[in-house]
This record gives sequence, structure tokens and C-alpha cells, in this order.
Amino acid sequence: MHQMTLAEIARGLADKKFSSEELTKTLLARIAQLDPQLNSFITLTEDLALEQAKAADARRANGETGALLGAPIGHKDLFCTLGVRTSCGSKMLDNFKAPYDATVVSKLAAAGAVSLGKTNMDEFAMGSANESSYYGAVKNPWNLEHVPGGSSGGSAAAVAARLLPAATGTDTGGSIRQPAALTNLTGLKPTYGRVSRWGMIAYASSLDQGGPLARTAEDCAILLQGMAGFDPQDSTSIDEPVPDFSANLNTSLQGLRIGVPKEFFSEGLDPRIAELVHTSIKELEKLGAVIKPISLPNMQHAIPAYYVIAPAEASSNLSRFDGVRFGHRCEDPKDLTDLYKRSRAEGFGPEVQRRILVGAYALSAGYYDAYYLQAQKIRRLIKNDFMAAFNEVDIILGPTTPNPAWKIGAKNSDPVSAYLEDVYTITANLAGLPGLSMPAGFVDGLPVGVQLLAPYFQEGRLLNVAHQYQLNTDWHTRSPAGF
Ligand code: GLN
Repeated sequence: MHQMTLAEIARGLADKKFSSEELTKTLLARIAQLDPQLNSFITLTEDLALEQAKAADARRANGETGALLGAPIGHKDLFCTLGVRTSCGSKMLDNFKAPYDATVVSKLAAAGAVSLGKTNMDEFAMGSANESSYYGAVKNPWNLEHVPGGSSGGSAAAVAARLLPAATGTDTGGSIRQPAALTNLTGLKPTYGRVSRWGMIAYASSLDQGGPLARTAEDCAILLQGMAGFDPQDSTSIDEPVPDFSANLNTSLQGLRIGVPKEFFSEGLDPRIAELVHTSIKELEKLGAVIKPISLPNMQHAIPAYYVIAPAEASSNLSRFDGVRFGHRCEDPKDLTDLYKRSRAEGFGPEVQRRILVGAYALSAGYYDAYYLQAQKIRRLIKNDFMAAFNEVDIILGPTTPNPAWKIGAKNSDPVSAYLEDVYTITANLAGLPGLSMPAGFVDGLPVGVQLLAPYFQEGRLLNVAHQYQLNTDWHTRSPAGF
């Protein structure tokens, strides 16, 4: 039962082959048995899950239908969940029970999805390895000595290990696409503004975007359908009609123009990954796509710009965690300053503190023009590069990551080496574009992803291309030994 995709589950529930309650119990038992090896969950909500599953079964018995009705999922632990701990992977929020549901959570619940729990993540979504979580590192089910990627590493590991068919994630600089690539999943970061950020704990507000992690493009379409849509509670939500993401999965790729940027194959890319990307290009050519070499000349500036903008926004967003209103508070503060200082020093881990310091520095008087303003100018140049490219091509393709999953701890002493792993993913966040990663093969037994980028609001095009690719390849069907 645990091998089924969301689409298969939807058919099975519709045909009354099993109930949501049975399926939920099966997966909860599997989580209890296997998750100790992976650490992919921070909080399990068994009772709530069984309640939601029974309610979904009752709705079906009353004639209701829907692809998500009774479908088990998990939520990255930065989506607020009413009455349930929402930790953001941090000691700071270890004691925080959200007083409301995030829009994504309430929308999926209304569609009948059953939430089994809250998945592990890098602290405040800062990281590419899921090693900065207060609750410990998540292991990659493909090799337990390796990282699953981050920051949505718990969601990725749980779905890859067949503990869940799909889960939510968020992507500020690659945190859906990169863990998807490193665990053999399909993951989609929507256009900025497509999915509500209300109730999603902020890291860098102008870059953060929620999206689905699943095994197939078909399943990403189903989950995204339940997440997307205008939300007046989020001032950057876009009032754009939400198409039926499953409707065009079978459109032919004949004549589709795929741009391949030369900058995506620069130094630093593992040549074995480059080869797998070229193999995927040949596969898409067989399906009728036309390949065009293109250039994104400002891509080399993306990492420095991102690592100014994201920490700057984080330093501002995280100032609310002061020990006064919610979250961790130090013992016996001497005075208000002592309360702030010790609560924050005790509540935040080293990577979060590093980002707050970098951000506060970049925003301070005297440095603002030199760093923050420059970074914003680069951001515009990167967006312009994409706009020019999309005049010539329908989709852009390249590797998702320069390397396969690294060993746990391997990059701990050198944060910048981890930042460099984001080189191919952060440009989409800086420009606000939708991006998808899909399985494309293995290197040393570890999964490799290919990334597709599309113009604004063309999530459907990404899903169409990935689905056609998946109809003709079987990488996405491989499951890790032992799971
Ligand atoms: N690795 C990037 C960072 O640490 C992206 C994280 C994310 O997308 N949340 O900022």
C-alpha cells in the first residue's frame, strides 16, 4: 500500500479498494517502524490523522469526490498548525503551538487531505542539508550516511522512503528542488505569489514560496492544486486564476523550445551529473523538443546577491523572536536587554545566528548601499536575463545541483561550500519564477535531479514536460533499498 502514488491512492479510494483510515493506519505503522532510522518527522499527529481520515471516508460515503479526499500527507514544520507544535526546526519555537492554521494547511484540510505530522527541516529553513535542525540531522534513505538535502529534508526523506506519498515544502533558494533531486523525487517551486505565505513562518519573505514534494509530476499537480490560489491574508499573493494543473499533463512536447544555459555547465558541476543531464535532453528531443543553447550572463552573481538579500530579510523577520511574546525565554532575566540577549542566544542555533549577523551588517547604515542595494540591482539583472531568454525558449533546463548528496557533517566546517550547492536553484527565487526538479539517474547509488524553469505562472508547462519525461523513463519509480 505504501508504494502507491497520490494518483493511485485517489483511484483506490474512489474504487473503494481501501479506506483512508486503513491507509493512514498502515503509514503510521510504517513511520513508527522506519522513521527512527531517518528522523524525518518532528511531530506525529496520529489522533488528528485518524480523525481526518475517518471524516474523509465519511465524506466519500456521502458521494463527495476529489483527488486529495483521504490522501495522507505531511507538512514541513514551518506551516502553522492549530494547537500543534510548529517548531521551524528551532529550539526557539520548541514550545510553540500555533494558534491558527496556515492557509496551505487549511486549504489542504478542506480538500480532505490527512496530515500525519510535521516534518523535520533546517532551522528556520536555513540550509541545504537538513543538518541545522534542533531535532537532529535527517538521513537520506538512499544512503543513511548522507544528507537528504534541505531545508525541506524531512519532507523529502519521508516521501522518498515511502512513509508518505507526498508532502509540503518551501523553497527560498532551492529547498524544495534540491532535496527532491537528492532523494529521487519530483518537487515544484511555484511562481512567487502563487501559494499563500500566510501562516508560513518567514525566512526571506520576498523569496519564500510553498510547494509540493512527491514522487511524480502527476502527484505534484494534485498537491499543488490543493495549495495554490489567491489569499487576501497574504499581501504578495497574486490574484491570478489557478488552472487545472492535471489537465495538460498529456500535451505533446512536439516543437517545445528548451533553452540550455551554458552557465549551468560551468566549473564545479560533477561531470557525471552533466552527462545525466545531457541524457535527459536527448530523451526530451526524442519526444519532439527542440534544444537551443542560451546564456544567463549574470548567473555568476546569484550566490553573492542571494546571500546578502536572504540574510538581510531573515535578520528583520527573526527580530520578532525576542523571548517576550512567544517562543523560548531565558531563565531569570536581569533586565529587558538581558532577556532579549540570552533568549536569542539560547534559542537560535549557529547557522541562524550567522545569517542574522550577516543580514544586520548588510542592512546597517554605511553598508546598505554597498551590499543590499547592489544585491537588489543584481537581482533585477538576473530577472532581465530570464525575460530575454524566455523570448526565445519555452522552458530552461539544467542540473538541479552541482553534486549528489554529501556525507553528513562533510561541509560543517565550511558554510560557504554548502552555499555553493545552491548555485542552480537560487536564480529562480531571485526572479520569482517557477521551477521543478525531476529524477534523472544516479551517481554512486545517489539520485540526481534535472531542473526545469518556466515563465511566470507556467507551472502547468513544467508539470507537462516532467510528466511526459516520466512516461518515457523510470528513474522516478526507483525506491531506496530497505524502504
Ligand atoms: N540553501 C538555501 C539557504 O540556506 C536555501 C534554503 C531554502 O530554500 N529555504 O538559504
